[in-house]
Amino acid sequence: MNINTNYENLEQSYLFSTIAKKVNEYISNNPDKKVIRLGIGDVTLPLCKAVTEALHKAVDEMGVQSTFRGYGPEQGYDFLREAVQGYYKKHNVELELDEIFISDGAKSDLGNILDLFAKDNTVLVPDPVYPVYVDTNVMAGREVKFVDANGDNEFLPGVNDVEKGVFPDIIYICSPNNPTGAVYNKEQLKSWVDYALENKSVILFDSAYECFISDKNLPRSIYEIEGAKDCAIEFCSLSKTAGFTGTRCGYTIVPKNLGKLNKMWVRRQTTKFNGVPYIVQRAAEAVFTDEGQKEIGENIAYYKENAKLISDTLKECGIWHVGGKHSPYIWLRCPNNMKSWEFFDYLLNNAQVVGTPGAGFGRNGEGYFRLTSFGSKENTIEAMSRFKKLFK
Ligand code: PLP
Repeated sequence: MNINTNYENLEQSYLFSTIAKKVNEYISNNPDKKVIRLGIGDVTLPLCKAVTEALHKAVDEMGVQSTFRGYGPEQGYDFLREAVQGYYKKHNVELELDEIFISDGAKSDLGNILDLFAKDNTVLVPDPVYPVYVDTNVMAGREVKFVDANGDNEFLPGVNDVEKGVFPDIIYICSPNNPTGAVYNKEQLKSWVDYALENKSVILFDSAYECFISDKNLPRSIYEIEGAKDCAIEFCSLSKTAGFTGTRCGYTIVPKNLGKLNKMWVRRQTTKFNGVPYIVQRAAEAVFTDEGQKEIGENIAYYKENAKLISDTLKECGIWHVGGKHSPYIWLRCPNNMKSWEFFDYLLNNAQVVGTPGAGFGRNGEGYFRLTSFGSKENTIEAMSRFKKLFK
């Protein structure tokens, strides 16, 4: 037996364990201080009523002989694929049912999709970004090239930022971005689509945070851009949209225009995946009903209010940042030229606020810091008043 030695090339990620260790140490030395966590990447509001009602109903169906369901279609039940199709239609994107694949979340499919690509493909990943893109490629033995996201391009790297001589076959784009919260506009995305078409590359577009976009002019799906169906696969998730981080459901769009890829993905899924539970798919279907959309809209509005509060406070304090408008994430430049971890310690010790050091998301994250709006309103208000005391 020989192991996959590519795993030895993975960077050890100490980010969240180091944060937990530092916070726990601080709390045990300062038991009287209230620590506020604005670093969490998980939702905190519960599932909405439309979803829990659908879950209960589906559970009951599973206990009755005539409505019991066993194995379902690997690509997802038609009732949910139709709901996803209808959702896209609202944004003027027409999809065929067999281009929609129901998944147990975006993370799995972002990794699984790599089964379809040859090992010698060149991969282009923005830096900083959600670490899964890099790690899944390293596990497969693929070399990863980076395109710099930084203050100069407002953390939205464009085709002109790609290093000369690099010709990517696979291009990752995450918009709204984790960790920066930056969102591409249509023009910027169009230039990536044109670039991919010209170079015969595929774009892997991660739209896990699309529901946070409230400006109608900003694209929520890459398929709002002409030509994207000829070059892009899109990954989306109900995790942040509808609080499904623990319930697990998402969807992946593989257009038929992408030649063999759609058929290959069907083959891959029918071989290695047995579908998302019926009860979860019924819950997901409820998200797309009018009632579901209204209820999840209220939850998203709650998080976005927190994000606005954070962004407004940073503005008042003169701290440079992006995100927070169409995203649950706020990405700030550490005040006084502090390094990411230095700022982490400073904030913990002086304001008892916990965030995530940007250096943990890539080389260009050094000197930056991520705050999230997934905390409670009360805690966010309190944390921001502590910010003002320190920085205003
Ligand atoms: N994509 C991005 C950019 C994320 O930030 C996350 C989760 O934090 C995911 C995908 C994973 O989503 P899911 O819970 O659907 O696996």
